[in-house]
Amino acid sequence: MAMRWGLIGASTIAAEHVIGAIRAQKDNAISAVLSSSRERADAYAARHAIPNADTELAVLLARPEIDAVYISTTNEKHRDQALAAIAAGKHVLCEKPLAMSVADARRMVDAARKAGLVFATNHHLRCSGAHRAAKALIAGGRIGKVLSMRVFHAVLLPEHLRGWRLDNPAAGGGVIPDITVHDADTVRFYLDEDPKRVVAQAVSSGLGQGVEDSVMSVWTMPSGVMVQSHESFTHPFAGSGLEIHGTEGSIFARNVMTQLPTGTITLVTAEGEADVPYESYNLYEYAIAAFNRAVSGEGRPAADGIDGVKSLAIAMAVRQSAREGRAIDVDYEGY
Ligand code: NDP
Repeated sequence: MAMRWGLIGASTIAAEHVIGAIRAQKDNAISAVLSSSRERADAYAARHAIPNADTELAVLLARPEIDAVYISTTNEKHRDQALAAIAAGKHVLCEKPLAMSVADARRMVDAARKAGLVFATNHHLRCSGAHRAAKALIAGGRIGKVLSMRVFHAVLLPEHLRGWRLDNPAAGGGVIPDITVHDADTVRFYLDEDPKRVVAQAVSSGLGQGVEDSVMSVWTMPSGVMVQSHESFTHPFAGSGLEIHGTEGSIFARNVMTQLPTGTITLVTAEGEADVPYESYNLYEYAIAAFNRAVSGEGRPAADGIDGVKSLAIAMAVRQSAREGRAIDVDYEGY
C-alpha cells in the first residue's frame, strides 16, 4: 500500500536499518524527519534525501500526507511522542523499550487501540528467518517436550553507540532496557507464554556509569519450562545465541541475536547432528512489510503494542529483582 512516513528522531538505528527497510517497500516514502536540533535535522535530511526537516513535533504531525511515524528517539521521549502521534491520527511503529514504565507503555497502546490505529513495537529478532526456522522445529515436535531455554546476548557495545546507553538512566540507558527487552520478546515468541516471576543479578562493571552493563536472570514460566537469560555490553568475544532443550532433541542457534540475517542453527537428536536451513532476508524489511499489511487491514504487526508492553514488564521485573535481591512477580499491568 502507499504509505508516507515521518521519522521521529534523527537516530542511528533509522540511518543504519529502518530508512532502507521503509524504502524497500512498494509505494512507501519518507516525508519528514524530526530532530530537536535544527543543525542535526538539516544534516540528517540531506544525508538521507528526506524532503522535510522539522524541529517541532507538532509541525511534523500536522503534515497531512504522513500516515505513520517511526519513533526512534531516546527512550524517555517515546511516550509523549507516541501519544501526540496517535492524537494526530498517525499509525505508530515505536522502538523498544516502549517507555520508561509499563504503565506508560500501556497508555500508549491503549490510546492507539481506542483511536483505531496500528501500533507496533520494533522487536526485530522475531522477524528473523533463523528464529522462525528454529521455532518451527519446536512446533513440529522435533525436540519433544520443551524443558529449558537459555539465551546468550552478551556482546560488546559498539563504540559509536557508547553514549546515553552507558551513562544516562534518565534517557533509559542500561543493558536491561536495551537488550533484556529483546530477549524477553524472543523467549515469548518461542514459547508462546509469559514469564510469571524472575530472579536476577546485575553489575555495573565500569563501562556502564550509573546503569547496569551486565545481567543474568532466571525466569519462571507457567508451563514449568526453565529459562535463563544473559545480557551484557562488555563481552567482546562471547558471541550470541540461544539453546532450547527438549525431551527428544536440542536446538543450538549461534550468533542469531543480531540485526543481521546471519547465524547457524543445529538440531541434535538421537539421529545425530543436523544443520537447519533457513530463509535469509532483512529483518527490518520483514517488520515494515508486516506493519504495512496491518495498516491495510491484513493481520497484525510482527510485534504489536502488547508485545512491547510485555517485554518491558519482564525487563523491569529483571531490573527490580537485581536491585532488590529477591524474586519479582512480573506485573503486566492487566495485559
Ligand atoms: P541514537 O543515539 O543514535 O539516537 C537517539 C537520539 O539521540 C536521536 O533521536 C537524536 O536526537 C540524539 N542524537 C543523535 N546524535 C546526536 C548528537 N550527535 N548529539 C546529540 N544528540 C544526538 O540512538 P539509537 O539509534 O541507537 O537508538 C534509538 C532508539 O532505538 C532507542 O529507543 C533504542 O532502544 C532503539 N534501538 C532499537 C534497535 C532495534 O534493533 N530494534 C537497535 C538500536 C536501537 P534528535 O532526534 O533530537 O536529533
